[in-house]
Amino acid sequence: MTGFSTRAIHAGQEFDPTTGAVVPPIYQTATFVQDGIGGLRGGYEYNRSANPTRDSLQTLLAALEGGARAFSFASGLAAEDTLLRALLGPGDHVVLGNDVYGGTYRLLDRVLGAWGVDVTAVEMSDADAVRAAIRPGATKVLWVETPSNPLLKITDIAALAELGHDAGLTVVVDNTFASPALQNPLALGADVVVHSTTKYVGGHSDVLGGAVVVGDDGALAERVAFLQFAVGAVSAPMDAWLTVRGIKTLPVRMQRHSANAQAVAEHLVEHPEVERVYYPGLPQHPGHEIAARQMSGFGGMLSVALAGGPRAARVLAEGTRLFQLAESLGGVESLIGYPDAMTHASVRGTALAVPRNVVRLSVGLEDAADLITDLDEALARLTVRV
Ligand code: PLP
Repeated sequence: MTGFSTRAIHAGQEFDPTTGAVVPPIYQTATFVQDGIGGLRGGYEYNRSANPTRDSLQTLLAALEGGARAFSFASGLAAEDTLLRALLGPGDHVVLGNDVYGGTYRLLDRVLGAWGVDVTAVEMSDADAVRAAIRPGATKVLWVETPSNPLLKITDIAALAELGHDAGLTVVVDNTFASPALQNPLALGADVVVHSTTKYVGGHSDVLGGAVVVGDDGALAERVAFLQFAVGAVSAPMDAWLTVRGIKTLPVRMQRHSANAQAVAEHLVEHPEVERVYYPGLPQHPGHEIAARQMSGFGGMLSVALAGGPRAARVLAEGTRLFQLAESLGGVESLIGYPDAMTHASVRGTALAVPRNVVRLSVGLEDAADLITDLDEALARLTVRV
């Protein structure tokens, strides 16, 4: 197998045989002409079942994660929904981390819950707590998100995969925060990887998307393929094309995201207004050693707990200039968010609630010195405390 950067540029990206165009074209079409009934050209029939642009993205995603097959969707949650429906039925149970993306919990609790699926959130770094949460016969899925959103908890994927497999579970890893450039869960023993490709994989905050990558081309792959077609939450050709375009620079972007986030984290940890910095690249982070082992960089996400409490957190989130106040993460531009009232508002009052003095930063590719100045200026304005 070629190296990661080579795959990011070439896997599934053969030049156009008709014109020689280096960049494969966007097949912006809903349907395909047949040479007589059933006479399909290249197997293409209708955009919901397959499209060459989506195929090129799926080939690329499988190559990046080292998976047998990948499936691309209209959003990360659409990918998760399709995967969970492929894995679960009424009466089944899921164990997931107590710091996963709030929307994942909402999907399980408030959408799939109505169809008889049950969910338990646990501290994933506590193997005994995970074992205790597993209900023999009912639990089917162990859902791991590492680093997690927004507290950057690190889970030992290899250890959890072993634990999950001993109990006969399918082990799923949400690899959105690390991206395949920094972490490959399938190689560490996970069965399935999911992504919000809206984030680092796309990388430019201009496209919504999601992916499921399976380690084996077996029954689960067939079921996901069927549901992708039968339910139809597929990525549109233009979205797939933009995602492919973003992936070409994924390895270099992740290096710079990691370097910038490390610089910001090391600066903030010394700041008197900051109570705690959650960043796995800091030696004092409880998951630092595991992250150093299973990731090839610590990524661009970090969270900060403010000494001045919830009010200070809100003032900081609304007070930066370069860090723009917005949902989402993983783009070239830096973003700041207040999880309690934004990304994680749906899990307030649950085991997944985020401390109200926490602000989340998606550290972009600007000059680190400018980002630090921006944060320092906003922190200097924190005068009122509760
Ligand atoms: N997984 C993680 C870790 C996320 O952060 C998000 C979105 O923020 C999702 C999944 C859902 O992805 P999307 O917003 O593309 O549906």
